[in-house]
Amino acid sequence: MKKFAFLWMFGTLMFISIYLSLPPKYTPLLQSLLYQDKPAFQTKNIDSKEALTQLQEIPKRRLGEMDYYSLNHMMEYGIVQGKVDSKQEICYIYRGNHHYQLERNIPVLLHNGLYEGIAASAVFLDKHCYLPQIVAKKMVEESSKPVSKQSESSKVSSYDAKQVAKHLSFLRSPIPGAHVSSVDSSLPGAKRAYRNGIHEGLDWYTFGTGKVINTHTPVLSMGSGVVVRADHDYQEMSPKERGEWLILGRQNNGQTPMYILDKLRGRTVWIQFENGVMARYCHLSRISATVKVGEKVHTGDVLGYVGNSGTSDGVLKNNQGLHLHLDILIHGQWLWGKYTVKERRMILESVFNHS
Ligand SMILES: [Zn+2]
Repeated sequence: MKKFAFLWMFGTLMFISIYLSLPPKYTPLLQSLLYQDKPAFQTKNIDSKEALTQLQEIPKRRLGEMDYYSLNHMMEYGIVQGKVDSKQEICYIYRGNHHYQLERNIPVLLHNGLYEGIAASAVFLDKHCYLPQIVAKKMVEESSKPVSKQSESSKVSSYDAKQVAKHLSFLRSPIPGAHVSSVDSSLPGAKRAYRNGIHEGLDWYTFGTGKVINTHTPVLSMGSGVVVRADHDYQEMSPKERGEWLILGRQNNGQTPMYILDKLRGRTVWIQFENGVMARYCHLSRISATVKVGEKVHTGDVLGYVGNSGTSDGVLKNNQGLHLHLDILIHGQWLWGKYTVKERRMILESVFNHS
């Protein structure tokens, strides 16, 4: 018996050692066990030409009308490195000096701190990330280019309030004639009982801004930039659907996932401005027909009109709670949390109350 046990153990060890010595693409089971939801930097990226050839080899998965690649497969083949935040359902992808971020159901790519629109968003199935074939191909092609100076990761995370105010000083008001709300709970960083416990943006209501704000109020581009997103086809949720998203958001340890936060923003326009500044204009009632993803806009262009889409009033289709919610990010970073209320107010008033 002892002899058999010895042979069995010997055989098993031999099998394991041969299995481990195989190139990663022959060991998908092991790879999927090792790299599920974990950072994986097991291989050096292969060059762009080879990566494009390898992309053809990867099994495609048809979802709806498009083909997708699993991020795990792309990593196994050495095409990219990546990791998945399975709680937030965000995937981070690296190739050379290029880094990318994609969020579930959001047709936007964050590439080296700058946002751009994409034809289809990442899909998450059983906590695995799938990338649309066209997006994967675009990432590989782009990554052969040198990183431009403008997109270099900036030092903004170490900025003090004055430096942020200076960085944003080129922006003009999205609603001329209105001033930054005198109500602290309308400022970014204000506490909220829902979402991630904080208010991300700056709210522009009639109350507190000195101007009547309703569905006739145009929302203007605050600078020259490129349209990242314009939800022309936005479909309002039902009150039941919105309620379910809120419950789902709360279940996630108080960390409402990005794709749910995105639902609550309603009909949005995202503009990538200069200096790495990106703005999300939320809860709009309408979007100007000329505002299209990939196209340029200029300071003062009408992007759309104030509304309440995505809010508790919006789903009831009433005319209450009309306001613009404006998110401002710099190089993909939400900076407001580290400043005091006084500092946040100083930054925003210095930018918007004179323009
Ligand atoms: Zn808001």
